[in-house]
Amino acid sequence: SAAHRKVDRHAPPAPAAAKAAPSKIHAPPPPSIVREPGEDGEEYSTGLFLGKGGFAVCYEGKLVRNGRVFALKVVRSEMTQKKMAEKFRTELEIHSKLRHPNIVRFHRAFAFFDCTYVVLDLCPNGSVMDMVRKRKSLTLPEVRRFMIQLCGAVKYLHKRNVAHRDLKMGNLFLDRNMDIKVGDFGLAAMILSEKEAKRRQTLCGTPNYIAPEVIDKSKGGHNQKVDIWSLGVICFAMLAGFPPFQSKTQEEIYKKVKNLNYVWPKDNECANDIPIEAKTLVSSCLNLDEEKRPSADEIVDHEFFNMYPGCIPRSLDPACKQMKPVWL
Ligand code: ADP
Repeated sequence: SAAHRKVDRHAPPAPAAAKAAPSKIHAPPPPSIVREPGEDGEEYSTGLFLGKGGFAVCYEGKLVRNGRVFALKVVRSEMTQKKMAEKFRTELEIHSKLRHPNIVRFHRAFAFFDCTYVVLDLCPNGSVMDMVRKRKSLTLPEVRRFMIQLCGAVKYLHKRNVAHRDLKMGNLFLDRNMDIKVGDFGLAAMILSEKEAKRRQTLCGTPNYIAPEVIDKSKGGHNQKVDIWSLGVICFAMLAGFPPFQSKTQEEIYKKVKNLNYVWPKDNECANDIPIEAKTLVSSCLNLDEEKRPSADEIVDHEFFNMYPGCIPRSLDPACKQMKPVWL
């Protein structure tokens, strides 16, 4: 029914804090020109509002010197909540060192009046989440292309001992060529000592995507394999149009995760006929034993990427944000 369709199946439960204090957290709209301090500091003219997250607000920013457009992530320098300040600090520390074609490029960060500005690659085509909401589900060639790009980014991170820990469709941004750029490194962690890892674990991600060992804190869960679990959830969600583990409450989601209780849609309930290869790929990632999950390299070797009709499109048209592409 129409009422049924309106339910937003992807929305995580809103954190209580965000409801209680809506906009004291977020920075006010920026002045029309922001200037990086120092003698050769750059000037940006601020433009279109792009979106807001837990504590950041994003705007377009045009580099005055050459007209190049970036995303400016604006955060109040004086962050009232300690957890948020910490999230932002790890984000800057880790993100600033990464350089990969499928990771949002961090260009620079500076303070201007009461705010910190982070200059990022602009991703003008929204996120994979927006696309799946609009389209309900994606076609197999699109899913293959996104998964391959995502695996490239994850391989790069894992090789450098970084775990993203909050991979979800809303953090997979789309650049102007519809290529994936992984963003939001606020929960990322260097794979550190067990003590540090435990401490960081207490800042938890969106429960829909959470791996079982993160719920069960006694089990460690500082392994990079949490990201591989999330890849399985993302792949399922792109194909089915809803995440594998969903429920009204966090406890119910956790229970489903721990029991590996997920059901693929029947063929007549879904625009896609989801092939068995896709299902075996997803189930290999959704393994309760983190050691048994594949590496990013093993994922791209999976038969799902090599089956008939096995095309991986060389590029995607931005029109496919709204409309199912026709593969010729
Ligand atoms: P937070 O860390 O507070 O959750 P996000 O990094 O998720 O903030 O950014 C908030 C919103 O801003 C995103 O949901 C998205 O709409 C937009 N956004 C973030 N980064 C970019 C980018 N590089 N290009 C375009 N829009 C972006």
